[in-house]
Amino acid sequence: MPEPTSENGADVFDVVIVGAGPAGLTAGIYCSRGRLKTAVLERNMAGGQIALTDLVENYPGFPEGISGFDLATKMKDQAVKFGAEMREIESVSELRTDPDGCHVIVTDREEIRTRAVILAPGVEGRRSGIPGEAEFIGRGVSWCATCDGALYRGRTVAVIGGGDSAVEEGMFLTKFADKVYIVHRRDQLRAAPIAQERAFANAKVEFVWDSVPKRIDGEEMVEALEVENVKTGEGRALPVNGVFIYIGQIPNTTWLKDTVALDDSGYIVTDGLLRTQLPGVFACGDARANPLKQIAMAIGEGALAAVQAGRYLDELGSPALGAKDAAGEGAAAAGTQR
Ligand code: NDP
Repeated sequence: MPEPTSENGADVFDVVIVGAGPAGLTAGIYCSRGRLKTAVLERNMAGGQIALTDLVENYPGFPEGISGFDLATKMKDQAVKFGAEMREIESVSELRTDPDGCHVIVTDREEIRTRAVILAPGVEGRRSGIPGEAEFIGRGVSWCATCDGALYRGRTVAVIGGGDSAVEEGMFLTKFADKVYIVHRRDQLRAAPIAQERAFANAKVEFVWDSVPKRIDGEEMVEALEVENVKTGEGRALPVNGVFIYIGQIPNTTWLKDTVALDDSGYIVTDGLLRTQLPGVFACGDARANPLKQIAMAIGEGALAAVQAGRYLDELGSPALGAKDAAGEGAAAAGTQR
C-alpha cells in the first residue's frame, strides 16, 4: 500500500473518499487501481446501507442473490487489495479548502489534506418523530431488520412504510416473527412488484392500509403501536414487540451544508460528470441528487467519480503527491483498465 506523502510533515493524499458504501468503495477500487494515493473514510463499518440488507437480489452477477454484508465485504477487500487505505469508525465533520487549493477533511481524529475529494456519504433511515420513537430506540424501535430481526423470534412486529425497504425487510422479519404488520399510509405500495407479490402471498404478513403511526407505547420495552386510519380517523393499537421504521431516507450531508451545493432535500448537486461546484470535489451514490437509489447506480457513479478525480489531478499538472508513477496516469489507469 503506498504511504501518504509527507508535505511539511503532514500526510497528503491524492484522493480522500468520504463514505464506504458501494459508491465510495467502487471509487476506492478505481482510484487505488489507478495508482492514486487513496483513503476511504467511514463513520461506521464499511458497507453503508447494503451492509444492513439481508439479501441483495438485483445486483448483476449473483443470480442466487448475495447477502448485503458479504457483498460489502468483497467490495472493501477489493479496494484494500489495490492499496486504498480504509479508515473505519472515523467520522467526518468538515470539508474546507486551503488557500493553496488543497482540501482538508476534518474528522473526529485528525485533519487530512488531499488534492481531490469524492463525497459518498450515503443516506440513513428517516425518523418518524412520533412519541415513543426516540424513547424506545434499542428497546423495540429499529431501522435495521438485518441487525435486530433475530430478537423477535416467535413475536409480533410492525413495519412502517410502503417502499422497497419496508416490504423487503418486512419479508425478512417473517423468518423470525410470527406476525408482521406492514403499516402504510396509502392503499397501494411503492415497492417493486416482485416484492409486493411475495408479501401478499406470505401468511405472516398483515397489511394495515391507509394508516399512519401515531405513538409507540410500552413500559420497559415496546408493547404497542398506535395507528390512525387517515380515511376514517379511526385509531387502533397494534400489539407488537418491535417497530421497524422504513419511511424513506435522508442524505448524510448536514456537515456539507455550508460548503457544497445541496438541493432542497439535502442531496449533493453535481453536473453530469459528478463535479460539485468546488474544484476537485466530486460526489456519487445515494447522497447525490440522482433519480435512482440502487447499488448498480452507486457503483457506476463511484467509477465515474474516480475517473473524473484522476483527470482532475492530471490537469493540475503537478505529479500526484508521492505516487511515483501517478502523474498523467491516474485517469488513464482508472478509465481504461477493466
Ligand atoms: P421510499 O422513499 O422508497 O419509501 C418510503 C415509504 O415510506 C413510502 O411508501 C412512503 O409512503 C412512506 N412514508 C414516507 N414518509 C412517511 C411518513 N412520515 N409516515 C408514514 N409513511 C411514510 O424509501 P425506501 O427506504 O423504501 O427506499 C429508498 C430507495 O432505495 C428507493 O429508491 C428504493 O427503490 C431503493 N431500494 C431498493 C431496494 C432494492 O432494489 N432491492 C431495496 C431497498 C431500497 P408513500 O408511498 O405514500 O410515499
